[in-house]
Amino acid sequence: MDFNELAELIFPNAKDISYYEEKYPNRNLPEGAAVTRFAPSPTGFIHIGGLFGSIIDRKIAGQTDGVFILRIEDTDQKREIENGVLQIVEGLKAFDIIPNEGVTSETEETGNYGPYKQSERKDIYQAYAKSLIKQGLAYPCFCTQQELEEIRAKQEAAKIRPGYYGIWAKYRTLPIDEAVEKIKNGEHYIIRFKSQGREDRRIKHKDCIKGNIEFPENDQDIVIIKADGLPTYHFAHAVDDHLMRVTHVIRGDEWVSSLPLHLELFRALGFKPPKYAHTATIMKDENGSKRKISKRKDPEAAVSYYHEQGIPADAVVEYLLNIANSSFEPWRRSNPDKDISEFELQLNKMSVSGAVFDMVKLLDVSKNVISKYTAEKIYEETLKWAIKYDLELEKLLSENKEYSIKVLNIERGKAKPRKDIAKWSDVKEIIKYMYQEEYNKINEYEFQKVNDKEEIKDILNSYIEKYFDISDDKDTWFNKMKDLSEEKGYAREVKAYKQEPEKYKGHVGDISSVIRVALTTKCNTPDLYEIMQVLGEENVINRLKDYINKN
Ligand code: GLU
Repeated sequence: MDFNELAELIFPNAKDISYYEEKYPNRNLPEGAAVTRFAPSPTGFIHIGGLFGSIIDRKIAGQTDGVFILRIEDTDQKREIENGVLQIVEGLKAFDIIPNEGVTSETEETGNYGPYKQSERKDIYQAYAKSLIKQGLAYPCFCTQQELEEIRAKQEAAKIRPGYYGIWAKYRTLPIDEAVEKIKNGEHYIIRFKSQGREDRRIKHKDCIKGNIEFPENDQDIVIIKADGLPTYHFAHAVDDHLMRVTHVIRGDEWVSSLPLHLELFRALGFKPPKYAHTATIMKDENGSKRKISKRKDPEAAVSYYHEQGIPADAVVEYLLNIANSSFEPWRRSNPDKDISEFELQLNKMSVSGAVFDMVKLLDVSKNVISKYTAEKIYEETLKWAIKYDLELEKLLSENKEYSIKVLNIERGKAKPRKDIAKWSDVKEIIKYMYQEEYNKINEYEFQKVNDKEEIKDILNSYIEKYFDISDDKDTWFNKMKDLSEEKGYAREVKAYKQEPEKYKGHVGDISSVIRVALTTKCNTPDLYEIMQVLGEENVINRLKDYINKN
């Protein structure tokens, strides 16, 4: 008996690997084009780290005219959930991440390098495992759970490095005839890699993000094919990324310690290894110390959080690019209107230590992103959000479409647009006073400087009688505000007031505040002139009179 016969006995139907090498030829892409892949397990909603990774994958492929693949790593069938694939596909789509190749739904896929679900690639892995067995680079291992535990206990007692390697690898040197006999007797086994590495030798590697790194060689005879016939992550990674002709493996840095093993697997399989980029984990600052962002503790770790809050997907993507490359922020400042596809992401400029997720900053980015939207778009997006999360708002918006767009258009579409909306869940609070029904429900007025009820009423009465005219242009309107100020003993200009504060009761800003608060209940609003234009003559007069009568 020789290795060939052993291989035939174990995988009688597996094809020769030359079949797959021809079936999945090198890609015909321009020089420098990167082939990347996002390779999640279908175990639930996408995590912020997964979204981060897929944005980088897409960007690196996109900016080099390469290919971005979505591959599903479903070899651990115990961890799978129903509709897991769909959740990933839809989850990415919500952020406008549409891979060029790979799975597109629970049952469909696109591209010539599939199947893109690992559970459908069993034959392929077995062909490569067979080829390793033939070369004496993999072998069947018959260890029972109990035997493995015994090995571990001995290693522990002797304070030796744990694992299945060297002299501890019990079946590594089992004569072929004995292995054949055991298989024929129906004994259970798995396939292990026969490592040629040595722990006392070191390998050097250049990671695209981490730079030069060095490790001891791998010497573990890891499992490559499990008892269910499916591969382990390590083996599938090597076979898939080779056959899908992936050039850049961009993945979380929890995998960096497996690199010596992966490089050895690639060598044993006769594959050219891809470039690796290990991205630092997204961190969270907790009372001054950094920790990994956690699915359990941090609601913002699940991407569903952003949908629930109504933070637009492009704001989240833009924020993640911010933490991906520190050069993004200055680029954005110099190119406020460019599409993010024009920004060139550089792997070697990515953080090595773990970027900290900052909600305040994200909301700030979001305010900027939203400030560039048209009122129509804000209306549509807010409505879409409200249909799911706020039916009151949905009613308000859909019953007053045109009016709402006018409201949202206040101080928009200008060089310095308003930046008060960070998320769709903010919108109701920000605009509700513009709707009579909602305005009527608010009983508190935020007067500040001018607080005396009689004084307020006097100002409002004079304004209605002598100064208010809806057809005034903005300058005339403002001059009248100044006239009113003067009449009531307030300075026409803030500057004049500041020079001689004892001469005045206040200034024109205080007077316009009185009118602002009476009309909107709030001290801080967008441009008052525009607000009055949108409310219209009748509403303005009614609101001011209402205030006078009520108080
Ligand atoms: N399925 C692995 C994970 O979700 C993929 C890691 C990789 O990108 O290679 O962590």
